[in-house]
Amino acid sequence: MIRFEHVSKRYRGTAKPALDDVDFEVQRGEFVFLVGASGSGKSSCLRLILREDTPSDGRVVVLGRDTKTLSNRRTPYFRRHIGSVFQDFRLLPSKTVFQNVAFTLQVIGSSRAFVKQAVPEALELVGLADKAKRFPHELSGGEQQRVAIARALVNRPQVLLADEPTGNLDPATSVDIMMLLARINASGTTILCATHEATFVDQMQRRVIELKDGRLMRDERHGGYGDRSGIKTLEPQVERGAAAVAALTAVLELQREVTGGATAEPAGGAAAPEAIAPVVEAVAAAQEELFADLLDDPGSAQPDAGPVDGASPDAATAAAEPEATSTPAVTTPREDEPAPRTGAVPRSDLPVADVDVEELGMADRLGLRPADDDEVGPTT
Ligand code: ADP
Ligand code: MG
Repeated sequence: MIRFEHVSKRYRGTAKPALDDVDFEVQRGEFVFLVGASGSGKSSCLRLILREDTPSDGRVVVLGRDTKTLSNRRTPYFRRHIGSVFQDFRLLPSKTVFQNVAFTLQVIGSSRAFVKQAVPEALELVGLADKAKRFPHELSGGEQQRVAIARALVNRPQVLLADEPTGNLDPATSVDIMMLLARINASGTTILCATHEATFVDQMQRRVIELKDGRLMRDERHGGYGDRSGIKTLEPQVERGAAAVAALTAVLELQREVTGGATAEPAGGAAAPEAIAPVVEAVAAAQEELFADLLDDPGSAQPDAGPVDGASPDAATAAAEPEATSTPAVTTPREDEPAPRTGAVPRSDLPVADVDVEELGMADRLGLRPADDDEVGPTT
């Protein structure tokens, strides 16, 4: 699904390569941590996968396409199969939660009916069904990251790239986000998560690819963080988050049990809610305790905002809809493209008219920029 073949990356004006002969392959359905100190090349790897950049040497093959031979015009379509989340959330501040998530679909020209169905589903998935009308500044950091995750997943990409997704969050909230990513992975989405937060990597026992100075040091199926010397760790926070981390471990164990011990292969379904419920309660209790603890430290606590009246979801839906019904949806997947898993139908007549410049900048970064090309074609 993602293959690095002896990849090197040298940025202009730098003597040392950011990536040096990196070679690995990620299979469909895997959850992979990309770890290493700051500057080791994690973000460079993710940027190569998203084709924000191409390798200086070697090949990066993603979803069957060599990113080097993929044209710029086809890149937006290629990126629709890859969701991304970042440390800084990158939400549109003037849009509600619903509108932020709908935005992904708006740019790719999904039908009004699809937006109406898919956005609430995505918000439900991340546990924010009741906050659709809020604006980003009315949410905690963890909630903002959940919105970003919903936005990344609303058109059901095959791969989710997460670049330090918990880097701006307190430990308890970080556990929540990691649990959410584990759940998303359990339902079949391949996940690559760059992080330097050792706790989760150790606790979750997933595949770990470690980079050091741009070189691949380790690729372990059930790895931990490994050598932590020279890396700032979260020791004081780990202490405080111990209860929550223990609960996370319990959830993951249970999840593994319920999904039949799946590791590299997709689990083919999330854990049964009734089986998870008691553990989720335990996590909530542990987090409450932790939260009380964090309140001693005003810098870490992120109190919830009160309910507000935002723009209605319908307004967002209306804005999201380019032209209601005139174009029949073309749903037959072509052999040479990664089959979309939803009714998000790529079209060439994209609704650029009601997307402003700021949004286009955002769309570009999210890999959603409209283009006048057809679908991604095959490479060699
Ligand atoms: P990480 O995400 O692990 O912190 P990065 O991939 O961001 O690492 O960076 C790897 C190396 O490449 C670092 O030495 C960094 O300074 C360098 N680098 C990253 N992006 C650029 C760029 N656009 N131009 C020049 N050097 C860069
Ligand atoms: Mg980085």
